[in-house]
Amino acid sequence: MTNMPEAKLAREAELCYATLALATDYDVWHETHEAVSVEAVVQNLLKNVATAKDVLRRVIPAIAPPRGCECPSLLKNTVITNPKAFPGATRKKLELLLDPYFPRERSRRAPAAGHPRSKPASRSPLQ
Ligand SMILES: [Zn+2]
Repeated sequence: MTNMPEAKLAREAELCYATLALATDYDVWHETHEAVSVEAVVQNLLKNVATAKDVLRRVIPAIAPPRGCECPSLLKNTVITNPKAFPGATRKKLELLLDPYFPRERSRRAPAAGHPRSKPASRSPLQ
């Protein structure tokens, strides 16, 4: 009802987000409005579907990429936790979101014997 979880998740995923909300009836807050019937709700719902389709047809071309907003890089300055303090499981779970800003430290050890990268580099025929 509040859209708050969706807005929060979209923000964390650096997605542009907007809500298109269309009411089907007023009985929740309008004290003098007539009682709501199923038929009225369905009729309004069908109108809302048509309205939503029309809105999307008009809006989507207007917001087509490239994005000129800050959404694609919102996490850049929003995570203030020291990356080394992220619990491993949490870090792994959030890697898709965090890796662009907090690259994980890779092991600097030499590859194990038998690993493809442990073989000496072959010389180019031009050398
Ligand atoms: Zn945006």
